Amino acid sequence: MSGLHIPIGTPDGSRTEHAENLLAPNPSLMTLDGTNTWVIGTGEEVIVVDPGPDDQAHLGRVRDHLGERRVTQILLTHGHFDHSGGARRFARMVDAPVRALDPRHRLGEEGLGDGDVVTVDGLEIHVYGTPGHSFDSLCFWLPADRAMLTGDTVLGRGTTIIARDGGLADYLRSLDRLRAAAEGLEARALLPGHGPVLPDPIGALDGYIEHRRQRLDQIRAARAQGARTPRQIVKIVYADVDRSLWPAAEMSVAAQLDYLDRL
Ligand SMILES: [Zn+2]
Repeated sequence: MSGLHIPIGTPDGSRTEHAENLLAPNPSLMTLDGTNTWVIGTGEEVIVVDPGPDDQAHLGRVRDHLGERRVTQILLTHGHFDHSGGARRFARMVDAPVRALDPRHRLGEEGLGDGDVVTVDGLEIHVYGTPGHSFDSLCFWLPADRAMLTGDTVLGRGTTIIARDGGLADYLRSLDRLRAAAEGLEARALLPGHGPVLPDPIGALDGYIEHRRQRLDQIRAARAQGARTPRQIVKIVYADVDRSLWPAAEMSVAAQLDYLDRL
């Protein structure tokens, strides 16, 4: 794809024609390299998606990077702290409103939800409601670049977790919806909330959908062996996964048990 730039080793500086990533310095097992803060627009006015955690140095770096360009709006892919924690501070720094699905994370009058179209500098951003990772997860389609910003719904590496405020049935529907959108709109890149840009949207989404199906099969099998609690199931299904991720895996298993029990 022309205009797609994926640096080697770090997502910092990844870009499409009209979107650029400034990586926040909050790496961890859950946030991979850190949170991706996306700047949309190449003209005098820009939109910033996910300022990241409340990290003065990172927020200052984003503002300095923008120079004289004006931030018209700050959008959040969802309310988790690693994406939203710095939003209010950044909003004060650049004098812009914060728009999010969850009213608790907004600053200003305007909300944000499925079907909304946000514009900046002649660019359109189409909002997709994609609940599942969290109840308030949104994806942002950038038609000019045929790129989808996916927040934590799809990550650049590994798989996402279903947080306590999310749900697996919603998540599976959201993946199917993104898969259909990626095909129908001929998407050329997914721009995730963590990790590198994904240049094969349909392949990545198919991988996610297949992974979920396999995990559910594994959980059914673990249950057939007598495992009952999330912890017992994690010990079997996630035996090959780093133990530091087991608490997150337990959360994910709990979401999957909840899903299976409702089928
Ligand atoms: Zn995140």
